[in-house]
Amino acid sequence: MTNEELIQRARAVVNPRKIAHGFTVGDVGCALLTERGNLHVGVCIDAGGGIGFCAEHSAIASMVTGGEQGIRKIVAVLGDGTVLPPCGRCREFMRQIDRDNMDRTEVLLGSDRAVKLRDLLRHPWDEVFEGRGGYPYSMADDGGEI
Ligand SMILES: [Zn+2]
Repeated sequence: MTNEELIQRARAVVNPRKIAHGFTVGDVGCALLTERGNLHVGVCIDAGGGIGFCAEHSAIASMVTGGEQGIRKIVAVLGDGTVLPPCGRCREFMRQIDRDNMDRTEVLLGSDRAVKLRDLLRHPWDEVFEGRGGYPYSMADDGGEI
């Protein structure tokens, strides 16, 4: 799938409409291609009280529901096709979903422009714990079954 095709898939799900209190849903669309070549899409939900989420968040939830975590390419767009770089929360979300996404994921900034997730997230907040046994307050990361 070309970058332009991925952009068009994201654009195709944009469908802005109003919800309670003047908030909106569907203003931004996202399409991602997984490591295994599956496509997932999502839209943003802007809701009051900080409970909304970005289009990337929505597409990533669909991917995780489908049993994958590795993102090969991702893009978010407005209805006019304007490509939006992911917000800081979504950058961190992509990293925490699968750490290999740092060097695997191409984030499209346009049909002819892409960067690796690592280029957008140069200094992860928990990098100081690397080589020191990992983040001391997390759940056990023994690689075992849940
Ligand atoms: Zn975001």
